[in-house]
Amino acid sequence: MKTRNNEVVCLFQDKVSELLLKHRSILDSLSKHTESATRVNRAITKAVTGCGCISINARKQQLPAEISLEECRKYMDSHIEGSLCENCREIIEEEIGNQLFYLSALCHLLNFKLEDIIKKEYERLNALGFFHLS
Ligand SMILES: [Zn+2]
Repeated sequence: MKTRNNEVVCLFQDKVSELLLKHRSILDSLSKHTESATRVNRAITKAVTGCGCISINARKQQLPAEISLEECRKYMDSHIEGSLCENCREIIEEEIGNQLFYLSALCHLLNFKLEDIIKKEYERLNALGFFHLS
């Protein structure tokens, strides 16, 4: 199936709404959405503490004085060392997909179109630039 990205978002939300039987209640979807976010965090944590393919070495960002905000980007550290192995990448990807399912479910139950939200957020980011992200 060849689709454009915006079509995929619409098709995904339609499929979620079609499959949304067990978690029809907004309360079920809210709690599952929260749980799915926790599962993403857990999967990333297990990549560090269980597998060890990545590690986290965090400390205060070290920025030279007198640099522009644009220049900050090249000095900002993700604090991640190593790279995800195939197994951890697969697990994390699956958990993120599960989280997208419940995000899409919330959109469906509240009559939002995920595609519209993504478009609006994209436009907002373009208008604001990275200076306003926090
Ligand atoms: Zn791993």
